[in-house]
Amino acid sequence: MSGWRVVVDRDRCQGYANCLDAAPDVFDLDEHDIAVVLTERFDDAEHDRLERAVRRCPVAALRLEPATDRPGTDGRPR
Ligand code: SF4
Repeated sequence: MSGWRVVVDRDRCQGYANCLDAAPDVFDLDEHDIAVVLTERFDDAEHDRLERAVRRCPVAALRLEPATDRPGTDGRPR
């Protein structure tokens, strides 16, 4: 299964919420004001929109990568 995944670097995120402004259906902030990704896997049709949201992060805390079946890289707290 192909598609895309957005990964949050929780050590970098400063909670500026630019990503939420760009794609409020994709991102939220958790109780520590760190971004979380609300959807684990995105279709290819979503790539360009996601890439624009990823680029909005001022501290480069977001990464767009091809989805794999590896667990634990969805940006959610464990
Ligand atoms: S734009 Fe970057 S720093 Fe701001 S909440 Fe999103 S991931 Fe965190």
